[in-house]
Amino acid sequence: MKNPYAGAPSDRRARGGKVEVTLIPGDGVGPEVMGAAVAVVDAAGVKIAWDQQLGGAAALKKLGTPLPDTLLRSLRHTRVALKGPLETRVGEGYRSINVHLRRTLDLYANLRPTRSFSGVHTPFRNVDLVVVRENTEDLYAGIEYQVAPGVVESIKVITARASLRIARFAFEFARRNGRRSVTAIHKANIMKLSDGLFLKCARSVAAHYRQIEYKEQIVDAACMRLVTDPSSFDVLLLENLYGDIVSDLCAGLVGGLGVVPGANYGQRGAIFEAVHGTAPDIAGKNAANPVAAILSAAMMLEYLGQPRDGARIREAVGNVLRRGRVLTRDLGGAASTSEMTAAIVRALK
Ligand code: NAD
Repeated sequence: MKNPYAGAPSDRRARGGKVEVTLIPGDGVGPEVMGAAVAVVDAAGVKIAWDQQLGGAAALKKLGTPLPDTLLRSLRHTRVALKGPLETRVGEGYRSINVHLRRTLDLYANLRPTRSFSGVHTPFRNVDLVVVRENTEDLYAGIEYQVAPGVVESIKVITARASLRIARFAFEFARRNGRRSVTAIHKANIMKLSDGLFLKCARSVAAHYRQIEYKEQIVDAACMRLVTDPSSFDVLLLENLYGDIVSDLCAGLVGGLGVVPGANYGQRGAIFEAVHGTAPDIAGKNAANPVAAILSAAMMLEYLGQPRDGARIREAVGNVLRRGRVLTRDLGGAASTSEMTAAIVRALK
């Protein structure tokens, strides 16, 4: 899978012949699935100098801050990270560290490829969707205030600059990967100015890519269509919040959050992370599915200019899923995280 930044920066940081990568184990199931991803990358024989850094709740507990300077320094130095999920409390606590990290490197494009695997039983076969989500603005700008007691406002920020560059990313991704269509998903019937601007930008970019079909769909109708006929979509182009929600919905079409990888790209770097969160209900039980984290690592190898190793890892994952003998509980099996990781390592050719 060729993303617009695959193999991009030629001045990649290297130490002793190894590429330097910031490794953020994360919270909840993070250390378990990140451990699995590192084990598979190591077993594939890829030489990486991991710079392990704490972030989120783990960092708050150990270092007194959820966003240590050492983490930011490492990220600015390596400009590439493999990251576990970080906890963000609901309705209280510090603002999302995930959002902060993405902003640190201006990682404006969140790419979430969502594919069916044979061996994973779901209502649809051959789902092959790519979610392209704008990563820097929208309601995630975090501008919220109380106007009066009992009245709060959250500001949705949409700019032409951010909308144009995410649309270009989506079309460029589609072009490089021979995808047939890009669908912009919106609610411009209600948010005529903000979503209207997003659509205007998408249309102007689409005009430069005549070979790729451009479509538009209102977000609620798109959700219904996704769960009844996912084959009518190909590349989905969304603002930040719709992108977050729709990518979890898409994960549900292919076996759940345990199998969908993701990446955040910008011109200066990239962070690779699964779509899923900290999964507090199964954390520490050696029960999490490591596939999403392992496939995120495979996407990272492609970005680092090692597509063959990425492809080998994807093939090993595919083989383990197809055989169906060693699967975690979310996929209907009884294997632990470490058993499934070991099976994927054994399947590496
Ligand atoms: P979640 O993704 O953590 O969990 C949702 C459901 O999916 C749970 O039932 C969980 O057990 C299951 N699940 C998730 N990953 C799995 C895996 N690898 N294997 C098997 N099952 C898996 O979502 P949530 O519960 O809404 O969020 C929990 C926390 O994670 C929150 O603090 C949230 O802010 C954070 N979060 C972080 C990120 C990130 O760091 N990128 C993303 C999403 C959520």
